[in-house]
Amino acid sequence: MEKSAYKIHIIGAGISGLIAAQILENHGYHPTIIDASATVGGRVKSDIVNGYTLDHGFQVLLTSYPAAKKYLNYEALDLQKLLPGATLFKNGKAQTIGDPLRNLSLLFPTLLSKVGTLSDKVKILKLNTLLKKRK
Ligand SMILES: Cc1cc2nc3c(=O)[nH]c(=O)nc-3n(C[C@H](O)[C@H](O)[C@H](O)COP(=O)(O)OP(=O)(O)OC[C@H]3O[C@@H](n4cnc5c(N)ncnc54)[C@H](O)[C@@H]3O)c2cc1C
Repeated sequence: MEKSAYKIHIIGAGISGLIAAQILENHGYHPTIIDASATVGGRVKSDIVNGYTLDHGFQVLLTSYPAAKKYLNYEALDLQKLLPGATLFKNGKAQTIGDPLRNLSLLFPTLLSKVGTLSDKVKILKLNTLLKKRK
C-alpha cells in the first residue's frame, strides 16, 4: 500500500501532535490532525486580558532539550533570553531570586528571600556546582 493511502489521525494539535505530523509528513504519510479547540498549539498559547499576557502553559523553553533542538527552529521563534530566576509576588510584595553565580546582583536578594531555607539554598548551590563540573 502506498504511504499516502494510510489513514492516520492525530488527536491534538499541541506541540506533540504537530511534531508527530511533521515527522510523518517527512516520511511520506499524510496525517490528519483533530483538535477539540479552534486553535493550534495546545498549551503553547497566551490570551491578552486587560493588557496582561496570560499564558496557558509554556513560558520558558530550555533550549538545550535535545528534541527541541531537533524539531524547533529557534531563529524563527525569536526567543528572548532570560536569566534563570523568578520574581515572586505575595501579599503585594515582590521578591526576586536567582542564580548569583550568573548574576551577582541576585546574591543578597536570594540569600535574604523567604523562599526556601538557607539549607535549601546551600543544597542548590552544591548541586549547581556539581552539574557545572559534569559539562
Ligand atoms: C501551567 C503550565 C506551565 C507550563 N510551563 C512550561 C514551560 O515553561 N516550559 C515547558 O517546556 N513546558 C511547560 N509546560 C508544559 C507544556 O505546556 C506541555 O508539556 C506541552 O505544551 C504539551 O504539549 P502537548 O502537545 O503534549 O499537549 P497540549 O499542549 O496539552 O495539547 C493537547 C491538545 O490536544 C487537544 N485535545 C485534548 N483532548 C482531545 C480530544 N479528546 N479530542 C481532540 N482534541 C483533544 C487539546 O485541545 C490540545 O490542543 C507547562 C504546562 C502548564 C500546564
